[in-house]
Amino acid sequence: MNIHEYQAKQLFRDFGLPVARGAVAKTPAEIDAALAQLPAGKIVVKSQIHAGGRGKGKFTDGFAGGVKIAASPAQAREYAGKMLGNTLVTHQTGPSGRKVQTVFFTEATDIAKEYYLAILLDRAASLPVIIASTEGGMDIEHVAAHTPEKILRRHVDPALGLRSFQAREIGYRLGLGDEQVKQFVKLLDGLWKLFWEKDCAMVEINPLIVTPAGQVEALDAKVSFDDNALYRHPDIQALRDLNEEDPKEIEASKFSLNYIALDGNIACLVNGAGLAMATMDIIQYFGGKPANFLDVGGGATEEQVTAAFRIILSDPAVKGILVNIFGGIMKCDIIARGVVAAARSVQIKVPLVVRLEGTNVQLGREILAQSGLAITPADSLADAAKKIVAALKN
Ligand code: GDP
Ligand code: MG
Repeated sequence: MNIHEYQAKQLFRDFGLPVARGAVAKTPAEIDAALAQLPAGKIVVKSQIHAGGRGKGKFTDGFAGGVKIAASPAQAREYAGKMLGNTLVTHQTGPSGRKVQTVFFTEATDIAKEYYLAILLDRAASLPVIIASTEGGMDIEHVAAHTPEKILRRHVDPALGLRSFQAREIGYRLGLGDEQVKQFVKLLDGLWKLFWEKDCAMVEINPLIVTPAGQVEALDAKVSFDDNALYRHPDIQALRDLNEEDPKEIEASKFSLNYIALDGNIACLVNGAGLAMATMDIIQYFGGKPANFLDVGGGATEEQVTAAFRIILSDPAVKGILVNIFGGIMKCDIIARGVVAAARSVQIKVPLVVRLEGTNVQLGREILAQSGLAITPADSLADAAKKIVAALKN
């Protein structure tokens, strides 16, 4: 789960990290009250969306910059008015962009130097890793691709936690002075505690800055959480913003379906995450484009299969459906009954190819054949993919 920058900065404050004061507005009527909480000086106006690259982003009406520095509260009010309700496109949002429903105002800080700092999981090493760089304010993927030597990585042993010598070493390697290293060690300690105690998937500060007066400060904040641990953190769950999520994915989560929307036109309904990945691959291999990833799980019920069809078909881009079920624990006849019942109740008007394999497969195929529905049976994964790709060409 992702949260907004203003929420992440509140968590930063809770964990003792230095961040500038700020206030949010969710409607034009709230702008003045928010600005009244800040001193009258230069103010940064920041669009709150769950995507980075806002500074260099552009709104669909041509207004440039999802992060703007205003010289006065009057100018901040003007910028915020242009951002609220407008759609911001950044390199992370995709071409359709994201609607800005909240703006965050902060006191503007002067910057002497920008750095990058993050903690995330290194899955290969099965350890949390601190990533730091002197190349702050830039796209870290770009730095990693072009100047990998400028990225510093240090693992943290979760049994020991972050040791202060590790934090000092990173600070000195970033070229910070003695006084800034002291501030940095405290900041990184707080960031580690936040990462660990709140079961974060990632905490990222880009840029982390040193001001001309020598103060270390987090100028941006990005925090995401491990969904599997959210049940332990009702305070974090309360930060969820459904406006930022695909409505189809929200609906799917209500039925415990693992659904992720993609931009193709062939919907997939599969049991098992690995099989779902293989199904998407083989659709691509035969020249099609998957509209989604969908794993209905090992023990899907008729209700779940029906919900899955409904969610798939609510995507207007879907022009065909491929059902790929391997009956292991789940028997094929039960799945076939679920598919038939679901197909009847949601009235599928696009080509539907079903591949069943495994326990009771014969029985399952008979149920599909006798259903009277326009279902194209397939007897292998490749056969199924070819048939659905061909059906879309006709
Ligand atoms: P992002 O583009 O989504 O990563 O949003 P950021 O919060 O990182 O803001 C974009 C850029 O705006 C930063 O990299 C800074 O260069 C600049 N910026 C943000 N806040 C301030 C500030 O208080 N003072 C100054 N001088 N620049 C800022
Ligand atoms: Mg940033």
